[in-house]
This record gives sequence, structure tokens and C-alpha cells, in this order.
Amino acid sequence: MRRFYCPYCNEDLTVLSGSAFKLKGILSSDFFDCSSLFYLPSTPGHFGALFDEQITIKEGARVNFCCPNDQCGRSFTTKYDHDLSQIKMLDENSEESVAIFNRIFGKHATFIVDYQKKSLRASYGEDKLEYIHEFDSEIDLIW
Ligand SMILES: [Zn+2]
Repeated sequence: MRRFYCPYCNEDLTVLSGSAFKLKGILSSDFFDCSSLFYLPSTPGHFGALFDEQITIKEGARVNFCCPNDQCGRSFTTKYDHDLSQIKMLDENSEESVAIFNRIFGKHATFIVDYQKKSLRASYGEDKLEYIHEFDSEIDLIW
């Protein structure tokens, strides 16, 4: 089973018997902010998110995904690409990877990077080609 962690405080983000992970998602506009817990499928290449039914998100909206632990609350947005978020993942063999996913609602791009080798292990989603160049050279994974 895959497990997901906050790279900053090590909070276990894995929920629903390993089938999903939870993040705090903040939506901002010029006039207000709102936030909800988001549940994303833990199988790379499966897309879609569950969140508060009171919220309507339009395609193209950027969600600021953060650690749901209030003591931490750090944003998972990457330093190398403003459209991407990254968290720590341990796979079935307890190998450490980085799960990288798109912040833009309606876009589908997920990348799994080997943490030790700093190289791309797998990529998923019909929008991946837009971002895959980020992984051509050694990736700056500094959390
Ligand atoms: Zn955290």
C-alpha cells in the first residue's frame, strides 16, 4: 500500500485504507479565500478529487494545496513550477518517491520521481507533456 506524507512535518496524509490522501486546498480570489479538505486518489493516473460539496470550482482554477496539520500548514506548491504540488510518497517496498501533481482544476498531470536518483519514474495524464520538460534534468527536490 502507498502512503503519503507531508515533506515538512511528516504528517501522514493517507486516508480511506490507502485509497486516497487528504490535503487542505485553499482557493483565493481578490475578494475572499475559502478552504476545504480535498481527497485525491492514491493510484497515480487516477484523477478527480472529493471536496466540500458547498464549493463549486471552475476549470482552470488554481488550488493551493497545503498540509492539513494546522501546526504546519505549509504549501506544497513546488519552487520549480507554480502549477505543480509535491508530497512525499512511500510505495509498497517503502521506497521513497515524490508524488507531483497539477494544481489546476481540470488538468491531468501526475509525476512520480525517485527521491534518491532525482529522476522521473513515471508520468500520467493527458496534460503531462506540458510539464514533462521540468524533469529533463536533475530535479531540485528541496522541500
Ligand atoms: Zn505538514
